[in-house]
Amino acid sequence: MAIDTGIIDGREVAQAVRGEVRQRLEALRARTGVTAGLATILVGEDPASKVYVGNKHKACHDVGMESFDVTLPAGATQTEVEAKVAETAADERIHGMILQLPLPKGLDGVAAMNTIPAAKDADGLTLASQGRLATNLPGPRPATPWGVIRLLEHYDVPMSGRHAVIVGRSNIVGKPLVHLFLEQNCTVTICHSRTADLEAECRRGDIVIGAVGVPKLIGRAHVSEGAVVVDVGINRTDAGLVGDCDFEGLQGIARLITPVPGGVGPMTIAMLLTNTVALAEAALAG
Ligand code: NAD
Repeated sequence: MAIDTGIIDGREVAQAVRGEVRQRLEALRARTGVTAGLATILVGEDPASKVYVGNKHKACHDVGMESFDVTLPAGATQTEVEAKVAETAADERIHGMILQLPLPKGLDGVAAMNTIPAAKDADGLTLASQGRLATNLPGPRPATPWGVIRLLEHYDVPMSGRHAVIVGRSNIVGKPLVHLFLEQNCTVTICHSRTADLEAECRRGDIVIGAVGVPKLIGRAHVSEGAVVVDVGINRTDAGLVGDCDFEGLQGIARLITPVPGGVGPMTIAMLLTNTVALAEAALAG
């Protein structure tokens, strides 16, 4: 018998998270006189990256956070990029910063990102922050996977003792999600392109996460009745934006599912803002 499938509304949850950030910013301002600030560093003119950076500045404006727009020309060298990261990190008005990736060809974006000091890592993606997450130490958390956990918490999805199956093993989504689910006392399975029987692995999940980049890969054969499905995928197709999970096909099977767009997407910026206010609170503590 088909069940009613509920929709996880990422826009609504992101608004709630932004509201919390707004309150924390006001409390910090009242206590210290300081407004927390986020800096973005953009190298070159990539149109998609410009849009992403613009959205981050708009979000800062929305919650009352300072934002700093740092740019470098496409021809910048690795040394120049890393010098700009150091200069930005030294600015005491800036409490969190991100280096917009990918960098133009010929530059090593991950190496440059890893020069961001842990105390200012707003994306939570540096080696230091990922190491802290993997060893249960506090610190900024990778924004997109942390947004997945916040969505599940908001909808009171039980996690302790439940089985989370993650499809995708990237450093920015799949792998950090393993640790975030372990923090929630989930049993975790991570699947990838060499997984022998993806359908069977996914069907074991009380929670199934698609973080692959393959349109509608996860369908009816992958999801057990009553499971919760979270779709991180964003794929541009002729039919518009679609996720990694077959949203229509999973109606009547999943208990809850995120749409694309309007699911995980809005959470990434909300969690970036959360990391930044937390970094500012830590910097101004005492
Ligand atoms: P990635 O390309 O780095 O990793 C993809 C992973 O999927 C790999 O680990 C690979 O092993 C696995 N994979 C590929 N084909 C597979 C298959 N057929 N079966 C099983 N596993 C397979 O991707 P990423 O950076 O983690 O991004 C994944 C998706 O999430 C993309 O669509 C991306 O656009 C999206 N994304 C969204 C956000 C956001 O909402 N805010 C943030 C980051 C990424």
